[in-house]
Amino acid sequence: MGTEQKSLRDALRVRPGAVNLAGYDTAATPLSPGGKDKALRAMAASPLAELQERLYAEATAGGRRSVLLVLQGTDTAGKGGVVNHVVELLSPEGVRVTAFKVPTPEEAAHHFLWRIRKALPSPGVVGVFDRSHYEDVLVPRVHELVPESEWRRRYEEINAFEADLAAKGTTVVKCFLHISHATQRERLLARLADPTKQWKFQEADLDERAYWSDYQAAYSGMLDACDSDAAPWYVVPSDRKWYRNWAIGELLRETLVELDPQYPKLDLDLPRLRLRLRPPY
Ligand code: AMP
Ligand code: MG
Repeated sequence: MGTEQKSLRDALRVRPGAVNLAGYDTAATPLSPGGKDKALRAMAASPLAELQERLYAEATAGGRRSVLLVLQGTDTAGKGGVVNHVVELLSPEGVRVTAFKVPTPEEAAHHFLWRIRKALPSPGVVGVFDRSHYEDVLVPRVHELVPESEWRRRYEEINAFEADLAAKGTTVVKCFLHISHATQRERLLARLADPTKQWKFQEADLDERAYWSDYQAAYSGMLDACDSDAAPWYVVPSDRKWYRNWAIGELLRETLVELDPQYPKLDLDLPRLRLRLRPPY
């Protein structure tokens, strides 16, 4: 056994080749700091906020770098939970969260990347996508709304789009929140049982659940075709909410540590500026 510390990014990166999600354990907890309590403590102590501030500060001096966290997963996988629990560790001013719903008539009239481009993070910002351009290789494929040649072509467009984003300074971190069929049942039942959660329940989610294996195949295809070093896919076991939240925070932390954003080095004339603050000023 090597002694070097394995990164979570290595541990969760999708394994290339014919990806089959059935081979990924939805309840696993690789590299977790212990159980739920330890994970919560690790998150509370995470240096994410400072790293994010450095990214934001860097951009005030002309830095061009940003981060885009893409969250995909079936209903109840926890995309909203990640937005609540991970993104709350960040400063709101440096975050931009966008949830993508069924395209509006205006969005549907445009190329599928049109609404995505409008939501990209500006320099210094961590963008978070709750669903994304990947919906356009999932829903239309499962419901046979476009021919196979079209969704396959979209894979290529997405790869070119993300490579371009990376080249322009946006680090793309893509997380697939992987839950089991049984976990989805439990969570949908929990929604039905709780008047404070019923608002999230849509009967259409049960219709989509009936296509579970088609969706698993479509997710597997997306992970296979659109994983690259410029825009890697991570499969995050998400049956345990505490692990999912910790892991995505940790993927972000590792990403920001590698980016190593820097506070700008400013050439301030400190004596003159201090003079201007001399009492009574
Ligand atoms: P929710 O995230 O629960 O608010 O649900 C949003 C719904 O919008 C889901 O059923 C998605 O599958 C659907 N959706 C999002 N983007 C697209 C898209 N590009 N094409 C078709 N359906 C989409
Ligand atoms: Mg929903």
